[in-house]
Amino acid sequence: MGSVMTKITNHLPTAELQALDAAHHMHPFTDDAALARKGARIITRGKGVWLTDSDGHEIIDGMAGLWCVNIGYGRRELAEVAARQMEELCYYNTFFQTSHVPAIALAAKIAQLAPGDLNHVFYAGSGSEANDTNIRLVRRYWDVKGQPQRKVIISRKNAYHGSTMGGASLGGMSGMHAQGGLPIPDIVHINQPYWWGEGGDMTPEEFGIARARELEQKIQEIGADRVAAFIAEPIQGAGGVIVPPETYWPEIQRICDEYGILLIADEVITGFGRTGNWFGSQTMGIRPHIMTIAKGLSSGYAPIGGSIICNEVYRTVAESGEDFNHGYTYSGHPVASAVALRNLEIIEDEGIIDHVRNVAHPYLAEKWKGLTEHPLVGEAQLVGLMGSIALTPDKERRARFAAEPGTVGYRCRERCFANDLIMRHVGDRMIIAPALVIRPEEIDILIERAWKSLDECYAEIKAEGLLKAA
Ligand SMILES: *Cc1c(COP(=O)(O)O)cnc(C)c1O
Repeated sequence: MGSVMTKITNHLPTAELQALDAAHHMHPFTDDAALARKGARIITRGKGVWLTDSDGHEIIDGMAGLWCVNIGYGRRELAEVAARQMEELCYYNTFFQTSHVPAIALAAKIAQLAPGDLNHVFYAGSGSEANDTNIRLVRRYWDVKGQPQRKVIISRKNAYHGSTMGGASLGGMSGMHAQGGLPIPDIVHINQPYWWGEGGDMTPEEFGIARARELEQKIQEIGADRVAAFIAEPIQGAGGVIVPPETYWPEIQRICDEYGILLIADEVITGFGRTGNWFGSQTMGIRPHIMTIAKGLSSGYAPIGGSIICNEVYRTVAESGEDFNHGYTYSGHPVASAVALRNLEIIEDEGIIDHVRNVAHPYLAEKWKGLTEHPLVGEAQLVGLMGSIALTPDKERRARFAAEPGTVGYRCRERCFANDLIMRHVGDRMIIAPALVIRPEEIDILIERAWKSLDECYAEIKAEGLLKAA
């Protein structure tokens, strides 16, 4: 109980903070007992692409937090907007025929930025919640259309769509499904377009078509009149930054059009400049009926997410003559909305997407591709500012390691941490998604630390006999 009374500041010794953390804070996606033995790394400050920890290390954040701090840490304008909004109207709901200025202004801004006739915003507090909304929304849409049997949503293995019951069910993470009896009914999964790992002897082009046609086969197997929607990330993020072959998305779009099923693009990572356009759907050339948004919407300064909905789906549900029986206390939260709006204005006014396209991406791309010269690195992918490298014991064969998947990736991640670089590992892929404002001299530091970490990892696994192919 004493800990509850302690004033917890940045100035307590790290060990004390770690002990309190272990005693009272249960972490997401964490083996908590193992973490308690080791002690969490405690982050105290952020500025631009840089973080400071409680031991005073200056860390370059290659992941923009969890892919969200698009405009970088420490922007005073957002703090000011939040303070002003809290004083003026800290909270009001958008249920029961009420609205408020921040929710209205943000929805109008999002509609202006979104492509095509994606003109309507339903707010949530996070990406997971927004995907739960999408499940409710597409099923409601088909009900109103007089096709209530259209309930099945097709997704992909190794997709990430959040961690609520609905979000985790849409996702295709086997480790998540294994805990808690998921997926919920009427959500099915097809294979992912991961050529490096699963393409075998096919060319990327052939493989992209083959994996897209699995959608058509699945629709035929289920019955086209029972399928409500297909959901996918334009580029898989948490699955390992998997960039589909060029043939994939056009074929998916053809199939969705031909069978008249709704296409949901989960833009939680790919939205708001990450791929060098406002939305990943523009980069990949697709026309979704619904987009899921969160993360970069507020650059992580406040929790907010939502669904951007096309005219047809909106009008059908809105004009059904009944309430849509769904919503969250914090749908369109005024402080989060005001912060998100200012964030979007900053992205626009400061030309941050042009910076991604014309400066940061080209500069990083050359050096990122250069990592394939490292003995451990197979392919290197980079779209806009989301990138991945595949670690492999044998590039020619695109081989996996004999060790348990993720063993080498974890080692590499630990070397990065030790070198004050945050790169994440997904299995044996290393991924980055730095703040969109990253400057060339910061990219140099990121790459220098990545090389050093790869060298150390290579030496380590070689010494331990882990450099063996499966
Ligand atoms: C992070 C993420 C989500 C979940 O968002 P939360 O805000 O964590 O609920 C959903 N979809 C994608 C593609 C994501 O990367």
